[in-house]
Amino acid sequence: MGKTEYQHKVRLKKGQVIEVPIRRIGINGEGIGYHQQQVVFIDGAIPGEIVSARVTQVKPSFVRAKLIKWKKKSAYRVEPRCPVYHQCGGCQLQHIDRRMQRRLKRELLEEAFVKYTRLSTIPIEPTITMDDPWFYRNKAQLPVSMIAGKVVMGMYSASSRRLVDVSDCLVQHPLINKTLQTARDISEKLGISIYDEKKHEGVLRHLVARISFATGEIQLVLVTRTKTFPQEQAFVAEMCKQAPQVKSIILNHNPNRTSLVLGEKNRLLWGKEKLEERIGDLVFLLSPRAFFQLNPLQTEKLYDEVAKVAHLTGTETVVDAYCGVGTIGLWLAAKAKRVIGVEVIPDAVADAKENAKRNGIENAEFYTGQAEALLPVWAGEGLRPDVVVVDPPRTGLHDALIDTLLNLKVPRIVYVSCNPATLAKDCDRLLRGGYSLKKVVPLDMFPQTAHVESVTLMTREDQ
Ligand code: SAH
Repeated sequence: MGKTEYQHKVRLKKGQVIEVPIRRIGINGEGIGYHQQQVVFIDGAIPGEIVSARVTQVKPSFVRAKLIKWKKKSAYRVEPRCPVYHQCGGCQLQHIDRRMQRRLKRELLEEAFVKYTRLSTIPIEPTITMDDPWFYRNKAQLPVSMIAGKVVMGMYSASSRRLVDVSDCLVQHPLINKTLQTARDISEKLGISIYDEKKHEGVLRHLVARISFATGEIQLVLVTRTKTFPQEQAFVAEMCKQAPQVKSIILNHNPNRTSLVLGEKNRLLWGKEKLEERIGDLVFLLSPRAFFQLNPLQTEKLYDEVAKVAHLTGTETVVDAYCGVGTIGLWLAAKAKRVIGVEVIPDAVADAKENAKRNGIENAEFYTGQAEALLPVWAGEGLRPDVVVVDPPRTGLHDALIDTLLNLKVPRIVYVSCNPATLAKDCDRLLRGGYSLKKVVPLDMFPQTAHVESVTLMTREDQ
């Protein structure tokens, strides 16, 4: 153990007040600074600030501290607009000016590449911005709970298991807020039994609503522990009366003790089975369980960027791995010879096929399975994609998928990412396998939050 390291352990104690200059933000939006070479995480502190903070946690590799007061305040500090910003935890950057939010997120992306690859200069482009950074989300899924005889719907705060009422969320589409409030009030009025997580008893667990920005129509999903509940008809009747924007009411049965919101089975209680959304000229039908981008306005810009870097001429075979309801593949189909999508959720694949038909697209096929399992099989059968688009969950790409991309020497890989760390690690493997990093484009998908979305292009010249 080095001398300095030893000193920190002795010196920094819980409760101690330290002065810390803040250098950057972490992946959860927290301020990061150094005290005697020890990394200190301070929620709510902004790079450029110098703060006094009380140590709350001491770990071998880092210290957490609570901001007490400022010695120097950032010129980019702004008053958070949301009244429950500090309790909720859903947003992490509302206290920072918008332009600075973008700059810091861009730096997070750059730092990830510097940390996980051997590159010294990272080709990061300017961020694709969003005009109005509020009310952009098209979907909310909120747990409900019975607290002192009232039905409360909200988010579990980041630091505790306490439910914070977020029924007027400022990044959510206002009609989603209104619909969920109505559903909550009706549940209370009808005396619908509310799920008790600890006892695993009761009925209503979550309220989920998704809006189509194109039509203003809403799909409401009631997630219940039981297959049916006595007030079903009355709930539907009241909901239709009070919320004409709701065009689809679905019961999702989730009987398990689980942290997953949705269960496997859906039953249509009333209205349309699927929600119809439009991005650009394309129409998409969405099942309750299918993933769809959360910010429809920015999605069009995201897909345009994917199309731009995919650089199609009409002769290419494109694989859309992690295709969801087929959106990216269908977006690219007009400029490709053939599109093949793969996705694990069968409902989403069924939607993707239907979406292809609905849009008159005949050169796109969709398959259910894991990208890392199917791509090697197709490669074995002779498939040689010219472009592979990957848009994986936060965990990034499976090793087997990267191996297949390397074996096939796919000329162009377009990587849509919501997690800079896994993106950079995966890119590093591709770099070591002969790829070059052409560009990384940050996109403002989740303003007010620390989430970083980006489109990356990797190419190789040796096929
Ligand atoms: N590209 C789509 C969806 C991206 S979200 C869009 O823009 O809407 C990631 C998707 O990957 C989800 O639909 C998820 O169900 C799916 N998925 C997760 N793991 C997968 C795997 N191993 N193979 C294929 N799809 C997977």
